[in-house]
Amino acid sequence: MTKKSVAKEAEEILLATDMIRLGARLQVLQAETSLSYDRLARLYREVRGCSPPKGMLPFSVDWFMTWLPNIHSSVFYSVYRYLDTHTPAKKSRALVEAYRLYIEQAATGLGAPPGEEPVLSFTRAWMLIRFFDSNLLQLSYCERCNGGFIAHAHDPQGGFVCAICRPPPRAGKTRKRRAAAVSKPSADGGTAAKGADEPASMAADARRARPARQAAKKKGAAAPDEAGKSLASSGA
Ligand SMILES: [Zn+2]
Repeated sequence: MTKKSVAKEAEEILLATDMIRLGARLQVLQAETSLSYDRLARLYREVRGCSPPKGMLPFSVDWFMTWLPNIHSSVFYSVYRYLDTHTPAKKSRALVEAYRLYIEQAATGLGAPPGEEPVLSFTRAWMLIRFFDSNLLQLSYCERCNGGFIAHAHDPQGGFVCAICRPPPRAGKTRKRRAAAVSKPSADGGTAAKGADEPASMAADARRARPARQAAKKKGAAAPDEAGKSLASSGA
């Protein structure tokens, strides 16, 4: 009896450690293990080297409906469901394994800058599964690509087209703007590692900026000259 509980505790500590590494909040760990708050908080500090963040968990269902979170969450959830149904990894283990696969996929996408947070956080991924378990969400199947995408429960399935097949007009613009903002300081310093498409856009930015600056300089230089001339002519 005692032996079994030690083994179970060891298992739970390992699970909690994996979850902390992936960014789990303390509330998630409390829900998924039977370890005490104090032990979890201590474990958190040991693994991450800082105190666990306080505050409420993100609990909005609508967040999963905006186009980019919807794509990311749908990828994660499909992996999770596959692992939970077809492999020995069940429930919380399936969550950990599916989230690992998700961040691997998200990082190989369009070349997200290193250190950038994945769109779907671990805590949101956990919330997502809870929303499905409490029948707030469903998978709707896209009539063009047949992929399963997250939708509100009881949404009509007929004629559904996903955000990949029909992206909103603003799709991808935030990323481009952010990439431009990141590449500008490195153009001055020239030390940061550059992506394949960044130097071209930096050069374009520089080209656009230079004539404007030169025009301003000319204007500034011309003005005193003209003023001098007019002074001279008026004095003559
Ligand atoms: Zn589709």
